[in-house]
Amino acid sequence: MVTGHTKLLGIIGNPVEHSLSPAMQNAALTEMELDFIYLPFPVASQGIEAALLGFEAIGVVGFNVTIPHKQAIVPYLAQQTEVAQAVGAVNTVLYRDGGWWGTNTDVAGFIAPLREISNWGDRTAVILGNGGAARAVVAGLTQLGCGAIRVVGRDEQNLTRFAESWQASSLGVQLTPHLWESLPELLPQTHLLVNTTPVGMGVDGDRSPLSAADVAQLGRDSIVYDLIYTPRPTKLLQLAQERGLRAIDGTEMLVQQGAAALSLWTEPFTSKPVPVNIMRDTLLSHLS
Ligand code: NAP
Repeated sequence: MVTGHTKLLGIIGNPVEHSLSPAMQNAALTEMELDFIYLPFPVASQGIEAALLGFEAIGVVGFNVTIPHKQAIVPYLAQQTEVAQAVGAVNTVLYRDGGWWGTNTDVAGFIAPLREISNWGDRTAVILGNGGAARAVVAGLTQLGCGAIRVVGRDEQNLTRFAESWQASSLGVQLTPHLWESLPELLPQTHLLVNTTPVGMGVDGDRSPLSAADVAQLGRDSIVYDLIYTPRPTKLLQLAQERGLRAIDGTEMLVQQGAAALSLWTEPFTSKPVPVNIMRDTLLSHLS
């Protein structure tokens, strides 16, 4: 129930109507018995500054940021974390000490299902795509201590720009860029393959960035991780499962980035842990 004391959280983006975060976050807030509400706020690109001034005026505790504002929000923040700076994108904002503080919880979300795996120093990861999500994946694999990170792209200029952008990063990222044509040489030495391209998403669900023959090049103990969460499983993950490989889809990343954000917002108000299971169940029920 909304009361006169209800605290505000939300998500800004454009469009934002399709976002599953309100369902997932409000289910968790109810379970935590907190007098908070999480709302979707459609904000146009020219409206970011006004939205932030309004949020400050009405005492919004924090909010998520989605496409297309993850980079554009940065000039309006008083502070951002080292990881957000290295990734070049902010997805979580908190009002702290009289200003907006931004971080990136996609990195923690991405690595959550990989934490149980050891010997990262001996492993090679291949990332398909060099866009925004690939940046969180590179930062996450660096945090895990992954032995070799290979980024595969289709456009040489974009790929070079992507590789160069990490040179000044404080995270100590080491990666090698490769064009798509190099995949046949890379796949047999790959322990973790991550798809960060939108190939296979939504109405494109019958497509896969890798063919069955490509997937057959991966070693028997390889993991295939597709950041896409709809359809479940994607065509790529179906091919991986048919070959008996471990397949991870994008739902856990989505759940865990949200849980990390909620934990940051609610820490000053409660000692109750964020109910990750409720968030996951809510997301899965909406996706099905
Ligand atoms: P983005 O910034 O637009 O990057 C997409 C990348 O994919 C670019 O490098 C692009 O290459 C490449 N690409 C696009 N179409 C391609 C094709 N047909 N063949 C080969 N490469 C292609 O998008 P993003 O924000 O990184 O998101 C990418 C995917 O990750 C989306 O499906 C999104 O839903 C998913 N995602 C999931 C989560 C989660 O929580 N699970 C979080 C973030 C993103 P060029 O550079 O050559 O254009």
